[in-house]
Amino acid sequence: MRSSGLSGWAWVKTDLRRRRLWAVSLCRVVVALTLVVSGFLKAVDPVGMRAKVDAYLTAWGLGLGVDSLLLRSGVLVLAVLEFMMGVQLLLGMRRRLTITLLVAFQTVMTALTTYLFFTDTVEDCGCFGTALTLTDGQTLLKNVVLLAMIFFISRHGRYVIRLVSERRQWLASLTSLCYVVALTLMAYHTLPAIDFGPYAVGTDLRQAYTAPDADTPALLTTLCLEDENGNDLTDSLLASKGKTCLLTLPRPQKADDGSVDRINDIADIAADSAFGFYAVVPQQTVDAEVSDWKDRSGGNYPTLKADPAQIDAMVRSNPGLVLIEDGKVCGKWSFNNLPATGGEHFGASQNTAAGRPHEALPKLVMWYIIPLLVVLLLDRLLIGKKFYQHYILRQHLKTKTMRKKIVAGNWKMNKTLQEGVALAEELNNVLAADKPNCDVVICTPFIHLAPVAGIINAEVIGLGAENCADKVSGAYTGEVSAAMVKSTGAQYVILGHSERRAYYGETAEILKEKVNLALENGLKVIFCIGEVLEERESGKQNDVVKAQLEGSLFDLSAEQMSNIILAYEPVWAIGTGKTATAEQAEEMHAFIRGVMADKFGAEVAENLSILYGGSCKPSNAKEIFAKPNVDGGLIGGAALKVADFKGIIDAWK
Ligand code: PEP
Repeated sequence: MRSSGLSGWAWVKTDLRRRRLWAVSLCRVVVALTLVVSGFLKAVDPVGMRAKVDAYLTAWGLGLGVDSLLLRSGVLVLAVLEFMMGVQLLLGMRRRLTITLLVAFQTVMTALTTYLFFTDTVEDCGCFGTALTLTDGQTLLKNVVLLAMIFFISRHGRYVIRLVSERRQWLASLTSLCYVVALTLMAYHTLPAIDFGPYAVGTDLRQAYTAPDADTPALLTTLCLEDENGNDLTDSLLASKGKTCLLTLPRPQKADDGSVDRINDIADIAADSAFGFYAVVPQQTVDAEVSDWKDRSGGNYPTLKADPAQIDAMVRSNPGLVLIEDGKVCGKWSFNNLPATGGEHFGASQNTAAGRPHEALPKLVMWYIIPLLVVLLLDRLLIGKKFYQHYILRQHLKTKTMRKKIVAGNWKMNKTLQEGVALAEELNNVLAADKPNCDVVICTPFIHLAPVAGIINAEVIGLGAENCADKVSGAYTGEVSAAMVKSTGAQYVILGHSERRAYYGETAEILKEKVNLALENGLKVIFCIGEVLEERESGKQNDVVKAQLEGSLFDLSAEQMSNIILAYEPVWAIGTGKTATAEQAEEMHAFIRGVMADKFGAEVAENLSILYGGSCKPSNAKEIFAKPNVDGGLIGGAALKVADFKGIIDAWK
């Protein structure tokens, strides 16, 4: 059915995309899960896998021997590679790298299995470790299908949707890597976490041997344990009541002798408790090898011989221990993890070997799934937090659009009367022709105020002084009061500029007086605050700015605050050409707004315009003004040229 609102080609394209997405997702899940499962199964039983890989190598005349370090590491690498590629694909992480690796890996594997199919070199490919045996034909088919799917995925790689954010994908990868490496190393150190073999704990050997059914593995039905004289003891051992302990030595000459004391203790317990204890070695073992083991271990127990494949299948350890009770396997141990011998007997309750797949698998999967889910959940939560932060930012931008945007010029001690009037006139004309998108104010020396007020359009350009006295009136030679400023037609006054603080000793107390008088006389105050370089370098900027606000403005009422505009001017950026970065400006403006919100409430803070000042130019104004807490600029040098000042005003457009 056609989706609403789409017709013709657009619909076809959308529908095609949707189908492709489904097809890629399906292939991705199949390939990824196959890889995860095959990597996992290899990691669960690396000793068994080692034997399979060695069988390949031996068939090509490259056999390394199952105990070789190279082979051990090779199996670990193979398990990790498959598992990790599967996880990366499943979660859509490092897409390009993963797909490239997959194509290469699967091409090699398919070529290899094609060769095996035609040459019949080995019986089992070992794709799924020791858990599942496929014929060469089945393996080839599986690999061809996987290769086709991987090519399809690689052709439509963009449909592989990421399920974990790029920022935290390393955490998901690390969790997976730790899991698969730990699984392999633990299996090497002790026994496989899951026993896929025919001698798993709980197996009734007596039943399998005496009354096998069609599903009984051949390795059980053909079990043959012969004594040194070639007598087959299998029947009597499996039929005997009570316990029998088998010390398996798949390669006696390579058997680890680090735990021989514990083994001998167990053999002593067996002798004391009158149950059988036998070493089991491969049929082809020569007497010298057996004697060598007995010399090395000091053990004195009878030896049985069996098919090497059966010994390998009993315990993945050299030496290993199998406890049989009433014909049933009731315990297995690696030499690294032998049972305690303190008690009178040792038994199934002390068994540390894994159970059969249905018992061990759920636990093992949980050990991976739970940490991974925690990582994915954390990722989702943090993404959610980011969305929330964006939402807050959007809200800020909304309130910002409600706040007044202002560009104010501070002419300082520049321009003669004639030059100043000409500058104001030119600006007035330029802004009349191209209306600004913000409030524009020019703050001039006292002598310019009245004439400039007479020529500018007050609807477009506001006028302000650069200072006013801290006294009402009287014998203060050279001073100009707030009332006098107001009488010129000006509406604004800059107070607290760093140059006045530094060169004329204006303290927070003096400024507080000036602010009060300015407000009483109906002037709006552009109040400047900012830290010097040393203060920023020692990280004190916030304290400095907060103290400036507290010292001069904190006695005002919320209503008076509506006539205050703040200008954050880092002193190290004024007239130096060194601008604060947009981020530095935003950080400080947000801090200032927070301070004001704490003191006067959120409404006052949200309505307060905070300007940035310090080497602001047309080239950087736009970036700085774009920050959510920056509401415009107080401009020094660039206010003296109409083109520059206009360039900054246009940053709001
Ligand atoms: C100023 O003095 O207020 C100022 C911001 O100066 P400038 O733009 O020249 O750095």
